[in-house]
Amino acid sequence: MGIPHFLAIPYPILGHMNPLLQFCHVLAKNHGCKITFLSSDEHFKKLKKAASSSGMESEMMRLVSLPDGVDPNDDRSDQGKVILTTRTTMVDMLPKLIEDVNGMDCDNKITCVIVTKNMGWALQVALNLGIKGALFWPASATALASFDSMQTLIHQGIIDSQNGLPTKEHKEIHLSSNLPKMDPSAMPWYCLDNTFFFLHMKQEIQTLNQAQWWLCNTTSHLEPGALSISPKVLPIGPLMADQTTSSSSSSLILKEDETCLEWLDQQQPRSVVYVSFGSMVSIKPNQFKELALGLDLLNKPFLWVVRNGINGCKNNNGNYGLYPDEFHGSKGKIVNWAPQKKVLNHPAIACFVSHCGWNSTIEGVYSGVPFLCWPFVSDQLMNKIYICDVWKVGIGFEKGLILREEIKKKVEMLLGDEGINERCLRLKEIVIKNKQEGQKNLNEFINWAKE
Ligand code: UDP
Repeated sequence: MGIPHFLAIPYPILGHMNPLLQFCHVLAKNHGCKITFLSSDEHFKKLKKAASSSGMESEMMRLVSLPDGVDPNDDRSDQGKVILTTRTTMVDMLPKLIEDVNGMDCDNKITCVIVTKNMGWALQVALNLGIKGALFWPASATALASFDSMQTLIHQGIIDSQNGLPTKEHKEIHLSSNLPKMDPSAMPWYCLDNTFFFLHMKQEIQTLNQAQWWLCNTTSHLEPGALSISPKVLPIGPLMADQTTSSSSSSLILKEDETCLEWLDQQQPRSVVYVSFGSMVSIKPNQFKELALGLDLLNKPFLWVVRNGINGCKNNNGNYGLYPDEFHGSKGKIVNWAPQKKVLNHPAIACFVSHCGWNSTIEGVYSGVPFLCWPFVSDQLMNKIYICDVWKVGIGFEKGLILREEIKKKVEMLLGDEGINERCLRLKEIVIKNKQEGQKNLNEFINWAKE
């Protein structure tokens, strides 16, 4: 058995490329695997620059690219269009790319492709060439299991076959006895709020079934029910949540502002409210205003990630965030992008106001910080159910405009809840122990890819 050579094929958006790139870095650095990472031309230059300056690109890890077919004048935020053009453009080019990569590396040909969601078509291309395939899923296993259950739910008359909306008689969805009952609005396709995505995922999940493994950054303790629904799910988590010592493998595409760590060093233990909504959420200007004034009202130190463009306002002049005139923010530190894992593990952090993206969820759980859940779309609502109702390590906001007074009230409620704080520490210990199981599963996967 030689070294496994993985061809990683992410859907070309930050939320897929970044976690897959980090996973590939783990495969190359810790397990001696060879990686060819396929980017779209659009992201290639940026990625290459970041990967070579961080030392991520190496003899074991090479970046290659193909066009995604999106016209430069087209709207890249139209994911429906990007999904279609990526497939139609890349599908014909991929066999040649694989041939070229194998030609350069005759002794170490590609043994396995790893795709993310929306790139299931590449599994078929690989299978036609006799190459194995796996899915790397950058969200929860429960979200994946719910997509995997779509056909059953349709068949049982629980959801409509064309748009995924619940039929009248069904007020709750219960995917299996060891999963929480969920409001239909927590289903990831429901939140996409768009028939195209529902129909696309119905098709896509069948394509993804061609993968031998569905690799998830989770553990059997965190989501036992999801694992029982979809036996292909291989829990390999917690992955990378403890990469707090070096920035080389953390966020590649946005530059981390490390000055917030020095600022945190000057704060009292467990005093700082950390607010971050990940890489994609945008917040309406009136909600942004309430949040800013809520942080002032709270009168506690806060670290707030205000990503360029987060408030949904067009922003061409390099400024980010449109703060209300009354906002003084004197107790806080605001950054464009934080070294989140280091931040969460800093002793000054008291709680995490989070959009409940899956990576943030795992990182928060791993750091033992209580959550104030503020989900917006897709699987974030489902993750909130786990945080608040299953693991009971946080409290949350309901949908709608959240006013400044409520922000203050909920943060204070969370910080005063000793039960939640104790459960956070207990869950942290369990998840740290789960690392062994994740490692074992990862080794099993790597051995399978070698055969
Ligand atoms: N992140 C970061 N710095 C920030 C905010 C987020 O490094 O200031 C990272 C975070 O650690 C996580 C990822 O970005 O790994 C966000 O992923 P998640 O699944 O939580 O949300 P998404 O961006 O997919 O909505």
